Amino acid sequence: MADIPTPCIAADAFQRRLLNWFDQHGRHDLPWQTPRSAYRVWVSEIMLQQTQVATVIPYFERFMARFPTLEALAKAPQDEVLHLWTGLGYYARARNLHKAAQIALQEHSGELPSESVEALMMLPGIGRSTAGAIIAQSTGQRAAILDGNVKRSLTRLHAIAGWPGKPAVERELWTLAEYYTPNTRLADFTQAMMDFGATLCKRSKPECPLCPFNDVCRAYAQGEPQRYPESKPKKALPQRETIMLMLSDREGRVWLEQRPPSGLWGGLWSLPQFETHAALNDWLEDNVVAPERHAALPSFTHTFSHFRLVITPQPVSCDRLGGIREDGVWYDVNHPPSLGLAAPVKALLSQLVPFALHPTPSR
Ligand code: SF4
Repeated sequence: MADIPTPCIAADAFQRRLLNWFDQHGRHDLPWQTPRSAYRVWVSEIMLQQTQVATVIPYFERFMARFPTLEALAKAPQDEVLHLWTGLGYYARARNLHKAAQIALQEHSGELPSESVEALMMLPGIGRSTAGAIIAQSTGQRAAILDGNVKRSLTRLHAIAGWPGKPAVERELWTLAEYYTPNTRLADFTQAMMDFGATLCKRSKPECPLCPFNDVCRAYAQGEPQRYPESKPKKALPQRETIMLMLSDREGRVWLEQRPPSGLWGGLWSLPQFETHAALNDWLEDNVVAPERHAALPSFTHTFSHFRLVITPQPVSCDRLGGIREDGVWYDVNHPPSLGLAAPVKALLSQLVPFALHPTPSR
């Protein structure tokens, strides 16, 4: 056991405590538990990915009424399978289920190859944890699972740092999951692991005072069980820069232009934007009579889902525009018209008073 993380409790004690808890508080009347065939467990496991038990039950019952056997599913048109999946989301699950049923019909005489995790994992849509759940629950053979609920509980019990999707963390969790898996009562143990995470060691409010492991749980001892598991690290967003022209006239009105109908801030009104000061100068030269630049205002960052925009507001006052432009309006900050404004523009305009935009000219 040299290269595995230190378990917080001996395997036999873990199994005993968990199964005692399960006997009293676990879920014993789920529709896929009777009869517990490989086909029924498989369909339920696929439906339960990213979906709560209560949502899955009516879908499972309708699915089984229409496709009571793997053969019935394999022979059904895909449209019908997708129709019965409507509302569950993640439709790739349904397409893979259907494809896997057809492969099992052709290559495994209509049975799921549940003799080994590896054989099941050859079918589309079946990962290691789903394969383990099917085997443990339908055949009683020893196989570990590591779904989202189990990852959460094991991460907390051992106070494992790092995002569980990271290969090194996941390896550590699989080692623990294998270590704790018993040789008997596999179906109950597997269901118990799932129920424990779903109903007791819950994501936002774990019920630690009621937990049979609260004397050995390392996250509980640290006083912050919700800190685990850690979230997926956010990728650093790319950064772009823009200069926003705050052009004001003698009445303190600010020039706004409407953005193109699609794309960033589509159809909203915004300050004219430039990538460089040279481009801004060219625009002023072409469009503005007697422009007067003032000191740039402090830059600030506006964050979009896919990038960060560093905005530098550049105040310029002027007598008037050099011609008629139909793509913009003079916006009176004291009597603002009802226009949809880009968020940072709205913030900028609400912060600024007219005299700040149009200081007394020095000439
Ligand atoms: S003590 Fe709390 S955090 Fe630890 S395993 Fe139990 S419920 Fe989860």
